[in-house]
Amino acid sequence: MSSNIAVKLSVEESVALVECLGAQGWETRHNAFERLAQQGTAVIELLIEGAAHQNWRVRRGCADLMDHLADSRCVEPLLLLLNDPITAVRRLALHALSCQGCKVCPLQVDIVGNLSRLALEDSSIQVRRVAIHQLGCQPPDPRAVETLKSIIAHESDAKLLSRAQWAISQHQKVQ
Ligand SMILES: [Zn+2]
Repeated sequence: MSSNIAVKLSVEESVALVECLGAQGWETRHNAFERLAQQGTAVIELLIEGAAHQNWRVRRGCADLMDHLADSRCVEPLLLLLNDPITAVRRLALHALSCQGCKVCPLQVDIVGNLSRLALEDSSIQVRRVAIHQLGCQPPDPRAVETLKSIIAHESDAKLLSRAQWAISQHQKVQ
């Protein structure tokens, strides 16, 4: 038998681990992340609660876990986290919503509108770059092309522009 079968945790143990996602120390957070990830979708409701936690590290950890465990229940909480005041939380929520590679089953969410808003308006240039990259990973969509054209016309940041050029080529290639 494989040794990676997880021990099922009690709700109390899982709640305590969600709190540990907010720890200052990386090792405590990482250990809590791994143990929660092993619990699979059994901890989704706790992650949804954690997505509204007052400690931003807990919110970030929950968004990160949702990248791997999310089902349709996570869509609304992740969309709310796109407006989080902490840049790292927005980045993780953005990744979790748009990355299908880490998921067991893809989330059903129309992300192009949200990606376009973040690509154009987010206060963090890193979040904008990630949003632009993810726009290039979406199925062909005229809204994405419009956003990317506007960015290419008005922006001067080199990394942002190169991502926008790549992203728009993804939409034009398949037309
Ligand atoms: Zn991912």
